[in-house]
Amino acid sequence: MRIAKSVEKLEAYVPGEQPASREAIKLNTNENPYPPSPECAKVLQGFDLELLRRYPDPNFVELRKAIAKANGCQIENVFVGNGSDEILSLAAKAFVENDEAIGSLDPSYSLYKTLAAIRDVRWLGMKKEALQKADALDKAISLFLWTNPNAPTGEWVHPSVIARFARGFPGVLIVDEAYGDFAPENCIAQALEPGGNTMVMRTFSKSYSLAGMRVGYLIGPVELIGAMFKIKDSYNVDAVAQAVALAAFNDCDYHRRTVAKVVETRERFAGELRRRGWDVIPSQANFVFAKPPSPQNASGLHAALKERNIFVRYFPGPLTGERLRITVGTEGQIAGLLAAIDDIRAKIGEQP
Ligand code: PMP
Repeated sequence: MRIAKSVEKLEAYVPGEQPASREAIKLNTNENPYPPSPECAKVLQGFDLELLRRYPDPNFVELRKAIAKANGCQIENVFVGNGSDEILSLAAKAFVENDEAIGSLDPSYSLYKTLAAIRDVRWLGMKKEALQKADALDKAISLFLWTNPNAPTGEWVHPSVIARFARGFPGVLIVDEAYGDFAPENCIAQALEPGGNTMVMRTFSKSYSLAGMRVGYLIGPVELIGAMFKIKDSYNVDAVAQAVALAAFNDCDYHRRTVAKVVETRERFAGELRRRGWDVIPSQANFVFAKPPSPQNASGLHAALKERNIFVRYFPGPLTGERLRITVGTEGQIAGLLAAIDDIRAKIGEQP
């Protein structure tokens, strides 16, 4: 028995906890607190079982047509994955040689580092300031993953900053817009420049409330999208997921309203935290990354909230360990969280 060396030494990615209890206030994995579009329920209820007997459409034509139409491009500009995580994993195969490297912001989505390790290539994390000059970039980087808005910080940069970077970068750039629907602008125009090096990745997990369905997509120049099709599994997105994602995508009004509610609550929530002395990084995503005032600290508060069945995300380490990443929930969930924070703080005050 032999396990590949790169796998043996691998530190696996640890996803956020999924508590079994439905009573928990779950603000740890940036899911949408609102249900998916009612159109999704209709698709599921009326789903023809005959479609399960057959393999799904390997080219997800209906879903790609809808995505292409909404973005003013051709279906050849669109790829669909089993969640955007699958897209990242395929991109690490398609655009990186064995002696090359994957770059990203640091801190950023920690899966990128794990993907590089699985692929057995280097991962190079960069501070966002360093990215103002593409020539400061290590020449080995052939795939750069720029998360915008970034996770876990929520920070957003204007697409013109990314466009400037892309012009000086010789490799392939994927702008991970998992949270892009909560932000003011996106990089899709840049991804549709013929012969360009930029693609934009989106997911149905956040703004469409379909994290359980596993659908993400990628928009980009035909040659780069074509490379992704070459290496994917034949049937990487199942028939139910294709149909449900299409229903959610087509229900634009519902999507717009849900995003607007989350953005409104985000702003109110950030204000409430600031009023309590927290340092909150301005966020354009569906979460905030915030530092509690002393004597509270992020790790202790994370544990104390968990005891009350409230789940937020804590990333230990020098760049992230002072803060908590808290998903924007419903107004009721946020009220519950704030009440718990106040209560925990009052208890600290009572201690001798
Ligand atoms: N990119 C970023 C920045 C994320 O935070 C996530 C979700 N954790 C993903 C991609 C993956 O999303 P999914 O696989 O659910 O589409």
